Amino acid sequence: SQDPRLHAIKNRIRVVPDFPKPGIMFQDITTLLLDPKAFKDTIDLFVERYKGKNISIVAGIEARGFIFGPPIALAIGAKFVPLRKPKKLPGKVISQEYILEYGRDCLEMHVGGVEHGERALVVDDLVATGGTLCAAMDLLERVGAEIVECACVIELPELKGRERLNGKPLFVLVECF
Ligand code: AMP
Repeated sequence: SQDPRLHAIKNRIRVVPDFPKPGIMFQDITTLLLDPKAFKDTIDLFVERYKGKNISIVAGIEARGFIFGPPIALAIGAKFVPLRKPKKLPGKVISQEYILEYGRDCLEMHVGGVEHGERALVVDDLVATGGTLCAAMDLLERVGAEIVECACVIELPELKGRERLNGKPLFVLVECF
């Protein structure tokens, strides 16, 4: 049986057809943020899963991983590491390119914030093809972090992102079709 909080969370996600381009069913989490109970339940579900698991890094992916990651990091006593789009971070960075449906994108991370052997959780709002999570995990592993899990609010299972994660565990709250 499913946690009763999940139903309300799913109901607060607005689906916007053909955004940002035709054929995309955009899963809009800004409506979830307007419901303080559902937003808090979302964070609590992650915190209940990760508290006491010796995770010292929560890495959030720009931009919506910056909404869900920091409250999880604070609640479990981990540091927050932003993984950003290119040319946003002022310090020394490492970069990881990844392939999108059309073209390519890139994530960057400051070096120096992560120590060898630290246990990391990767947070984003949604997993589609899994390319973004793969790039995030690559950045963390390149500086010696151990990936404990990837955590997203939403999974689009039809895009089979889970299969692309090289066996790394993925935890999601809701699936959308
Ligand atoms: P992917 O790399 O294909 O797994 O795409 C995941 C990233 O793209 C996440 O950062 C999502 O925020 C965003 N994304 C992809 N598809 C959607 C969608 N249908 N609705 C909202 N965000 C999406």
